[in-house]
Amino acid sequence: MSKRIWRDFWGWQESISECCCGWKGQNTELRSEYFGEVAELYCPKCEARLGLVSLVVGLDSTVRAAALGNEDAIQQLTRMPLLPKSEDANRESGLESGQG
Ligand SMILES: [Zn+2]
Repeated sequence: MSKRIWRDFWGWQESISECCCGWKGQNTELRSEYFGEVAELYCPKCEARLGLVSLVVGLDSTVRAAALGNEDAIQQLTRMPLLPKSEDANRESGLESGQG
């Protein structure tokens, strides 16, 4: 069995894992235990250890995830004090839907 390490905090939940017991599913279904800056991921069926995910979230990966529409990432970015203040007018440019 190949254990996997996800360094991209925002990417791991979208991945699919497979266990030797036959279980297969999205990583959000895995059981997780947290050890400081990492979490170990276990099969929800047989509890085999399937991988490790880094909980250290880099700004780069958060920005990338937000750009892809990850709502958690967007929430994080809006809470970050480092970002320059954005005027309300900025929001309107983001609303483009229903073309055609
Ligand atoms: Zn299993």
